[in-house]
Formats: sequence, structure tokens, C-alpha cells
Amino acid sequence: MTDLESNAVRTAGQSWPPVKEERQRDDVYIGGAFVPSASAGRCRVVDPATEKLIGEIPGGSALDVDRAVGSARAAFDDWASRSVHERAAALAGLGELIDARASELVELIVSEVGVTLAWARDVHVGRLAAGIAGLLGLADQVPPPEQIRQSLVVREPAGVVGSISPWNYPFGFFTKVVPALLAGCTVVAKPSEVAPFSVYRLTELVHELGLPPGVFNVVMGSGTEAGAPLAAHPGIDVVTFTGSIRAGQKILEAVAPNITRPILELGGKSAAIVLPGAPFEKAVRGTLWNCYMNNGQVCGAQTRLLVPADRLDEAAEIAADAASTYIPGPPMEPSSTLGPVVNAAQYERVIGFIRSAIVEGATLVCGGPERPPGLPRGYFVKPTVFSNVTPAMTIAQQEIFGPVLSVLPYRDEDDAVAIANGTQYGLSGAVWGPSDEEAVRVARRLRTGQVQINAGIFNGFAPFGGFKKSGIGREGGIYGFLEYCEVKSLQLPTGSPMAIGA
Ligand code: NAD
Repeated sequence: MTDLESNAVRTAGQSWPPVKEERQRDDVYIGGAFVPSASAGRCRVVDPATEKLIGEIPGGSALDVDRAVGSARAAFDDWASRSVHERAAALAGLGELIDARASELVELIVSEVGVTLAWARDVHVGRLAAGIAGLLGLADQVPPPEQIRQSLVVREPAGVVGSISPWNYPFGFFTKVVPALLAGCTVVAKPSEVAPFSVYRLTELVHELGLPPGVFNVVMGSGTEAGAPLAAHPGIDVVTFTGSIRAGQKILEAVAPNITRPILELGGKSAAIVLPGAPFEKAVRGTLWNCYMNNGQVCGAQTRLLVPADRLDEAAEIAADAASTYIPGPPMEPSSTLGPVVNAAQYERVIGFIRSAIVEGATLVCGGPERPPGLPRGYFVKPTVFSNVTPAMTIAQQEIFGPVLSVLPYRDEDDAVAIANGTQYGLSGAVWGPSDEEAVRVARRLRTGQVQINAGIFNGFAPFGGFKKSGIGREGGIYGFLEYCEVKSLQLPTGSPMAIGA
């Protein structure tokens, strides 16, 4: 029996082979079974800390996509007809399965994404089960039907959802998949080809739930070979995408012929504004921490620190001191506090941005384009801070996706707001002020989807998404759930017993 065949016949309760034996996969998950992919090509997966090949997956095939969409369509009517609480109950065991396999999931995340062991354990995996439980709890918050004059307004599942996700948080695709399934949609997911093995393992856990075949499907492969045919498929009702602006634009082109509804979560170049009278040192250190999270690879990262001009040097000094606490090194070693960026392309991109900043006249405070000492291999970038950055510089405009903080001086509040709003993005941001009232007043002037106020922490139940080129639609909480519903007006005759309050 081949590995592939053994995958196809595994059932709930059977044990899975250890992580390391799973690195050659030829399969996709369609109709409740792991089946051979029709792909001709292969995608190679590399460990960013060693630059070594760690496995291969199917390159992607329109045939796989077509089969997966067909399977999701066939499963839709029955799944959509169940109550939201029945659907929540069907998914309820997932958190427990995840917790039981947490150490394997952590190992996979570290080897594919390159984040540190502690970050993979505490954030990627540690918060997953609670996050899923929270999403399933939305079943109790679904807004009831509404009466508007003679019309009863109800919500219906939007249909078959195609989910396309990035590598930086491979399990982040659950923030799309769980609300979609809960809303009564069926799903075809296309995870990133850069970090696929963690999602394979998670799919094996979903398989153990024994959902009706076809409710949840996973195709594998590259953006062009698997993502593009999924977005363009006429059998898809919603495409929910997280990734770069460039790919987001391709998705919009792909959905146009079928008028498929797009939800886009794209990049960011978020600003943290430190107002006069704010807790200055805390603000600078907090912003640097935020910028370096996940090895600097977070869409909502606060990568631009805006400080009053007369405190620029002080800010740079504090930021450099904070950056010096980040120790680049092998991510599985507990002493490492900064892992590599994800791959060679991303490394070249980040180093290119650092070089461009030097050429354009920014002041390099710490870090730089050279390799960190003692790390001749791996895509490691020195923790880097630039000061005297002007709004027109490339590093102040483009998303870098690496541990690079830009410190910019501002003259007054209007200048700070203009700089913060002066990019194509509008995903996130922060305002540090002398009081929450003052910070909120300035935050209301920012053209961005979420703003952290004086160290307020991220809330996955509040809506998350972008203004401008950072996206269309929202994820998180009930707002995210409602993206997977269609609204239907039932025009009732006068005196109908179906009217609310009749
Ligand atoms: P990417 O755009 O290269 O790829 C994202 C996904 O899209 C992958 O699964 C990829 O295979 C697929 N894809 C690529 N081209 C496609 C196409 N033409 N058609 C269909 N699918 C296609 O992004 P990435 O490098 O994986 O991730 C980094 C980007 O994601 C950054 O810009 C980051 O800001 C963004 N991101 C945004 C959020 C958010 O919530 N706003 C969250 C995480 C990451």
C-alpha cells in the first residue's frame, strides 16, 4: 500500500505516522477522503532556517479544483439545511484534537515558517483551539430574522466558498473556514504552497471529526495552478482571500466573469503615532515588538513609528536598544528570539528594501543588509531600525515583511495623520496618547481598519480588515460570520402570521 492509499483509507481514531515521514505528499482532500492529486508538477517546500528541501507537494491542478468544487456543491444542500447549532456541534471536537497533537503542529510550523519555537507554541498553535471555540460560539450570536415593514429579512448560507490563504499564519485559514462552515457554506480551501504540511496535518484532524463528505475540501499547489482556477471556478459563490495586493488584484480579475463575491485581506504598512504626553518609552518598545512579531511577517504589523520631530533621536535610541534584545538563530533553539524570513525570495526582497533605504538617505540605527554573525545559512535578517525616514522613501511606502522598523518625525498632529494615511494601505495602526480619549480622537482620523489605543490588545472577535488597498470585507466575530451569508427579503402579505410580532 502506498502512502497515498493509506491516507485515503485512514479513519477516525487511527494513529498517524510521525511528522518526518509525511514530507512527500501527492494527495488532496476531496469528498471526505485523501485522494491522489491530478497535478503534473510539484511544489518544493524549504526549511527557511537551513535552506534545505523538506518535502514536496502537488503543484496544483484545475482538475483537482473542479472535483473539489463539485464535491462541495453536492454537499451544500444538506449542510445548509442544518441549524447553526448542529453545524457548531459537528465541528466542536476540533479544538481537543488540535490540543492533543499540539507538539507535532508546533514542529511543523517551525520547520515551514521559521518562527521561533515559543511563538509557534504560544501563538500559532497555543491560541488555535480557543480561537476555534470562540468562532463556534458565534452560533449563539447570529442575528435573528428582522421585520422591515411587510418584509421578513432572513439570512441564508452564501454557498460554496473558495478560501485561499498565505503562509505567515498557516492556521489563519480557520478564521475563514470555521465561520463559513458555521454559516452553512461548504468550503474548498487552497493553503499556501510555502507552508503546506501543517495544513495537511490539520486537515487530517478535521477528517477525524467525520464531517459529511464534501463539506470541507483542501486542494494543494501554487497560486497559478490551484489558486487561480479556484477563484475563477463558476461553482464558487464566495472567494475569501488573504495575501498580497498583487495576488488580490488577480483574484478580482478571476472573479469578474462569474460576479463571484470577493473578500480580500491584503497587506499593510501600518503606522503607530506617539502623541506628545504619551508614555514614550513604552510606546517605542511596544511598536518595535509589534513590528518584529512572527519574524516581522504580519500583515497588520506597525512598521512605521511616528514621533514628534524633537524626540526622533531619543526614539531611535530606545528602538535600537529594544532591537538588541532580539537574537537571530535556529528557531527550535530556545535562546533564539528571531527566526529567519520564510524563503529566498522574501529574503532578497527584505534585503533589497534595507539597501534602498540606505541609498535613499535614511539613517541606519542598527541591523543592516549583512547576515547576522554566526548564521552563514538560512534566511536570517538582522533586527533593523532606520531613523530619519521620510514619507516618500520606499521603506515608508512598501510592505517589507521582515524585521525592519522605520522611525519618522512629524511636526504636528495634522502632519502625523497625513503621514499615517499617506500610503496605499489601511489595515492597522496604533495611537499612543496622554489619555485614551485623546488617542481615540486621533485614531478616528486614520483611514485604517483597526487601531490599537494605548497598548490595547488585539481582539479576534472585533472586525478585522482593510481600508483602501488593504482589502474588501471583514474577518472576525459576527462581522466575519455575516460575510458568508446572503440576505433575503420575504415580502409577506398584509396580516401574515409569519410576520414577527404578528
Ligand atoms: P501571496 O499573495 O503571494 O499568496 C497568498 C495565497 O494566494 C497563496 O496561497 C498563493 O498560492 C495564492 N495565490 C498567489 N497568486 C494567486 C493567483 N494569481 N490566484 C489565486 N491565488 C493566488 O501572499 P503570501 O506571500 O503568501 O503572504 C504574504 C502577504 O499576505 C503579505 O502581503 C501580507 O500582508 C498578506 N497577509 C494579509 C493578511 C490580512 O489579514 N490582511 C494576513 C496575512 C498575510
